[in-house]
Amino acid sequence: MLKPYTDKPEQFAVVYTHAGLIPDRGNRIYAVAAKILHPDGAQDEFDSLVRYARHTEREYYYSGIPRKKLEDAPAAEEVRRELAEFLSGTDVLFILDDHHILNETRNFCGRDKRIVDLSFAAEFFMPYLRSCTAKSIREHLHDRQREKFSFSAPEVADLSVKLIRHITGTLLNSGDSPHAPVFRHFLQKSDTLFGTAFLHLSRHFQDWFGGLPAPDSDADTENWRPFLEKAARSGRNKKQRVPFRPVSYENLENLYRGLALHGQGFRLRPEQVAYGCHVAAALNDRAVLTLEAGTGTGKTQGYLIPVLEFLRLNPNARVVISTYTKNLQEQIFRQELTFTRDALPIYNDIRVALLRGKSGYICIEKLDSMYEKESTGAPLLAWLYCLGLAVHFRAADADAAGEKVKAYLNDGHFLIRMLRDTSAGSGCTPRHTLCPAQVVTAEALAADLVITNHHKLALLDHDPILSGLFTHYIIDEANHFETAVRNAFREEVRSRDIRFALRYLENRAGRILERAAGEHREAMVRAVGAVADLRAALRDFRDILVSISPRAAQGQVHALPYDHPAFQDGHLRAHISDMQAALKTLIAAFGRIGNAESRRLLRIQARTARRIETALTDLGEAAGALRDIEENIALENNITAYQIFNRNWTLMAQWVRVDGLIRHQIYDRKDCVVYTAATLCHRGKFDSFRAITGMYAPPGNIENEMAQKEFRFARIPSPFSPDAMEIRVHEDAVSGRFDNKAAWTGAITAILPELITRNRGRTLVLFSSYQDLEQIAEKVRSAISGTRYPLLIQRPGQDTVSLCDEFRAIRESVLFGVDTFWYGVDFRGNTLTQVIITRIPYPPPGTPLLMARKKVMSPKEYWNRYHYDMEIKMKQGIGRLIRSDTDRGKVVILDTRYRP
Ligand code: SF4
Repeated sequence: MLKPYTDKPEQFAVVYTHAGLIPDRGNRIYAVAAKILHPDGAQDEFDSLVRYARHTEREYYYSGIPRKKLEDAPAAEEVRRELAEFLSGTDVLFILDDHHILNETRNFCGRDKRIVDLSFAAEFFMPYLRSCTAKSIREHLHDRQREKFSFSAPEVADLSVKLIRHITGTLLNSGDSPHAPVFRHFLQKSDTLFGTAFLHLSRHFQDWFGGLPAPDSDADTENWRPFLEKAARSGRNKKQRVPFRPVSYENLENLYRGLALHGQGFRLRPEQVAYGCHVAAALNDRAVLTLEAGTGTGKTQGYLIPVLEFLRLNPNARVVISTYTKNLQEQIFRQELTFTRDALPIYNDIRVALLRGKSGYICIEKLDSMYEKESTGAPLLAWLYCLGLAVHFRAADADAAGEKVKAYLNDGHFLIRMLRDTSAGSGCTPRHTLCPAQVVTAEALAADLVITNHHKLALLDHDPILSGLFTHYIIDEANHFETAVRNAFREEVRSRDIRFALRYLENRAGRILERAAGEHREAMVRAVGAVADLRAALRDFRDILVSISPRAAQGQVHALPYDHPAFQDGHLRAHISDMQAALKTLIAAFGRIGNAESRRLLRIQARTARRIETALTDLGEAAGALRDIEENIALENNITAYQIFNRNWTLMAQWVRVDGLIRHQIYDRKDCVVYTAATLCHRGKFDSFRAITGMYAPPGNIENEMAQKEFRFARIPSPFSPDAMEIRVHEDAVSGRFDNKAAWTGAITAILPELITRNRGRTLVLFSSYQDLEQIAEKVRSAISGTRYPLLIQRPGQDTVSLCDEFRAIRESVLFGVDTFWYGVDFRGNTLTQVIITRIPYPPPGTPLLMARKKVMSPKEYWNRYHYDMEIKMKQGIGRLIRSDTDRGKVVILDTRYRP
């Protein structure tokens, strides 16, 4: 797909196949549909089932084909022959490969065909789609939800044609997408089948896809910047000073009544009104409120209504709502606020912005400097993908890049590096108005209400433009706040990033040397020498890390004993100083070519100069991070840790406790803070959360601002009936202690299939680690696959959105999950009636953070914290079961250490 393509075929085909998991007589395909498109609008169709005896329930749900029909279908060889004949005049196939069976499909159609993977195309052109399954593509193209999960093969073949029409007729059409000429230009320039096939279709298959204007000239499109969105220059208008007006509690109830009257599906809940009154009181009285609200209270509208009312009454006020998960930010920004404003239009004038951390946006300067004029193929498409993100999505989120995009464009980590290297960071100036980071900062500057994440919130007052503007914080999913603050203030140096910058600088220095003379030549010789010195220092440092723990697994995080004898002079500091010195020498050497006159003399182009500047800025940041690590290395409240990779290492430092940081950054500076979550209490008390978030005045400092802050605490129990859920430890369960692993694995393997069968699927199985999940899945997969209950398994790095959609859509399915499945998912109704917790989620005690806590905390404090973390996660896992008034079910715990 990424190889050059020059033919102009007279016909194309779209093909879709359904394939089973296990080959049956060497073949996995059990349904196939194809459509040949002719330029005059004519089409030929092919569609057949294929005999297949291993059809599972999950496959039935995908395809809607009953097993009986497959038993009577023609044999694979027969269908293959007919299909080959049908496709004989067609050499390019468009295949929507949403289940990763491209190879099987290609084998079935004939290896001589050229393939365009439409799932890749969907991810590439529509990075804003939540997932690129047939269901979500159809929902996007038709702009409405589809209840049915299954698609017949001919249905997907039709959908494929619609998708191509959307790409060529809308996304690449200047009439609908102003930046389309840029994309057409670079697609053509990519010299790939993928790039040119879409352009060819739109130009020569007008009856199918509409016609495009004549190709644009390079001059129009190679200069892509003018096509970008521009940041508004002005902030918000100055408003008149108005006296403070508190939110009236009586009126709040009326507002919720109004929402119930005008908002479809919204019901007045006394618990929610009580919740709203607590939030309103905190806003009115400038208090710090910690508010635990059980599942079903309606937290989001519970704080949105008082916040919007507060902003309406006080036009000069500004509020930030922060959450831990991106999903909740999107939900608040796109759904909840729209819902509230549709029902209560009095809030339509309140300006709202969605704000990520700056590194979450594409930096246009860096993107521009990454562009290589001579580039084609996958590297150019990777660059164009980043441009697409900047245009459509603004984001530079390596995690959000689709699986297909990664599979095709991430050879040698190229795409991930490109995403990281083009993310916004340093060197910002208000002059760069064609920049997604500036666009959203300008939006936030003009906004009354900002939705953001905890990380950004922690650093908000470090933003030169937004600092100090927002004085009221609502912190949802508050039990993740401490981690987010710790990460926000962490320092990290990655040797891979330094090497990447060095490779570029060395390459450029070599070229510059060829034409440099005199002092410039000397500087470049010094620069090349500094590159070599720094490389040697990086290598030596890795050797030392390996010698400290020779058997350390790659990628695992280890605490770093900074005064280990393996270090020169017995201390890590000496090495950090050496690396800093080498970085500074190198930056100074390249600094010689920093001025315009030197660049002119050395014939360095502006784009190259910008890229050198970016590389030097990155190295400058690495030097700064090393300095900070060195300064704090011996502090008690600091953890230094490292990871080793094949050729590289990462060095990191972070705080153990962040209570002081929170006190200083938030309570000392903000008027009102509301922490909220479904689980904050430990044994009925807020003491642990209070200590974690610094709500105790530091000893001997009671005169400060803290002493005047009012800290409030409240709990609103879940309105759901306690009888809706049964919690029990399974009678055959054993202890999940790490030293009892063999017995625990045996017990889980024996218990799980039976529990799932007895409940008729509809089960979420929660694991404490991927290692546990993979081990157990391996052992029980065949026992569960033999049942009628489709088994869905979370894979590391896999997009969980489509997994959740599938679990919701297939009522009888079973989902094995870790991580976000403990807290970040919502399955209402009878798709989930059983949650199985395989192991009590005690934090693994050997992590650097826990080891450091042991040093800085008293034993009592340490163990309180240890149990607090476990209990909160346990409550969150249990809380997945009952999500609505009518939900019923049971939680089965497979670890005898559980104490209710
Ligand atoms: S303002 Fe910052 S992020 Fe934006 S283009 Fe300039 S340097 Fe990049």
